[in-house]
Amino acid sequence: MTLHALNGKWNATDEELVRAHAAEYISAVGALYRPGVTTATSGGPAEARGDALIISGDVYCNQHTSLAARTAAGCAVEAVHAVLDGRVARAFAAVRPPGHHAESVAFMGFCFFNNAAVAAHAALARGLERVLIFDWDVHHGNGTQQILEGDPRVLTVSIHRRDGFFYPEGSGFPEEVGVGAGAGYNINVGWRSKGMGDADYLAAYDLVLEPILTSFAPQLVIIAAGFDAVEGDPLGGCCVTPEGYGHMTRRLARLAGGRVVAVLEGGYNTRQVAASSCEVVRVLLGGEPAKLEGEHSFTTSKSLFGALNATLAAATPYCRSASPAAAAVLQSAPPALAPHAAARPRGAAPPSTSLAAATSPAAAAVQFEASQAAAAAIAEAEAAAAGAAAAAAASWAAGEDVSSPIGIDASMLAALASLKLDGGAARPPPPPHAPAAAASPQPRSALPRVASGAGM
Ligand SMILES: [Zn+2]
Repeated sequence: MTLHALNGKWNATDEELVRAHAAEYISAVGALYRPGVTTATSGGPAEARGDALIISGDVYCNQHTSLAARTAAGCAVEAVHAVLDGRVARAFAAVRPPGHHAESVAFMGFCFFNNAAVAAHAALARGLERVLIFDWDVHHGNGTQQILEGDPRVLTVSIHRRDGFFYPEGSGFPEEVGVGAGAGYNINVGWRSKGMGDADYLAAYDLVLEPILTSFAPQLVIIAAGFDAVEGDPLGGCCVTPEGYGHMTRRLARLAGGRVVAVLEGGYNTRQVAASSCEVVRVLLGGEPAKLEGEHSFTTSKSLFGALNATLAAATPYCRSASPAAAAVLQSAPPALAPHAAARPRGAAPPSTSLAAATSPAAAAVQFEASQAAAAAIAEAEAAAAGAAAAAAASWAAGEDVSSPIGIDASMLAALASLKLDGGAARPPPPPHAPAAAASPQPRSALPRVASGAGM
């Protein structure tokens, strides 16, 4: 496979942008650069630095910003057309500014137009019925979620840090599963600590996301490819390796008949952004993922299970047949497997993210009855997992692509291996006990809204 530079129309049109953004907002971005302007949210004149207008701590622009934002979105759209036309098999859009924080009527986090969402809408406009946006930027793709959370044609997945006040605050929680017809089609994996590495990301994909994505059966995969979870990034605090991104790319390329468009998002260690981009492009071109050798490539973090359990709890009601046995395994997991459950005072109500809270009383009863058998199942699965992990370790270390990550705590692997999620494409209507977040979307402020804080 050879590398082509795409030639085509670069600037997104109003028609393309308005599928994801309000017309007034598009106009507002076009008129953004006005030296000396007073912004409504900053409460005073915007600070000028050189020729850049700083609108807030994480949004600034100059006279070229509007065009650059249109070009970035247009490149993503062109990449989608090139892939759908069959001109290229896969594509990588190396664009700036990034897009995944931009909401329908709000710029934030260096983002003005949501490149991935605009690209997804371009694909839908061509008749596609199922598009996956997979966002591995270390920050939550709040804009992508907000724009598409009511649309069941686009499954949005974001893996990001959701600890403390990490940017963007207030979004990216697992309970945000989508709204209305889109309920169940937004998945957040929110890391509860920094320091997450290859093993954590691959575990999340292999054990939780892959069955759901396969069931959804996307016709096109758009990767919101931020590289700020890479080791050495000054903001991300995580330790994914460039090779780790290659392994994730390889997995995503198994979907949609290999039709993948990667769109660059954040990343603040330019050498690592370059190295990671090159590795992703190399795999998109058909190369084998490079051997994983990172310090955190094989050992998962202690907070992994809690994060995955929360995502599973939120997603399970929307899956076709969440296995009662799997639910029982999670419910009866020993303290080490469910730290937030173990910390709950005796008699206290279960946390909102627990499986019990997210499933119906009938399902909870099944879980209870099955809990006795689950203990035995865990022990049995542990023994099997130990052998499987050893075999996987050998093949993974050798650079082979294996379906199960290794280095995961054996008991955790056992619990997760029992899960039989096959939800996605044919999901039932939301159950009566669906997470509250699904029924009450956050109110959106009038345009244009400017968020504060450092991010992207
Ligand atoms: Zn980011």
